[in-house]
Amino acid sequence: MGEVRICPSCREEMALRYAGVLYMKEKLISPSPDYIGVELYRCPRCRHLEWVEPLTAVEQLEQEQAERESIDDPVKQFEYTFRDYSEKQLQKVIDGKGYVEDAKKAARNLLRRREK
Ligand SMILES: [Zn+2]
Repeated sequence: MGEVRICPSCREEMALRYAGVLYMKEKLISPSPDYIGVELYRCPRCRHLEWVEPLTAVEQLEQEQAERESIDDPVKQFEYTFRDYSEKQLQKVIDGKGYVEDAKKAARNLLRRREK
């Protein structure tokens, strides 16, 4: 939640003003839920408002998957997968027997980058 949104008219970064649910007075489609999860963003410069329906956990996962699959290099793919790993977890990948060489290489790359 709270991703960065850019104002379509003045390119300013919009601020999240509200996150919650919007209750539906009339159901347009049936069956439909009584409320939907929404986020309201507002542009600080031109006051453009934007209602956004946030991604569900499943949609977020699908998006991440698609992002991952768009990476061609298998080492880069592993780096993406391991991006939130702790240094301890990365070391485990490097020392572990069950990991392919590309995975170990990715873990080494991430560790090296963090040392800086
Ligand atoms: Zn604006």
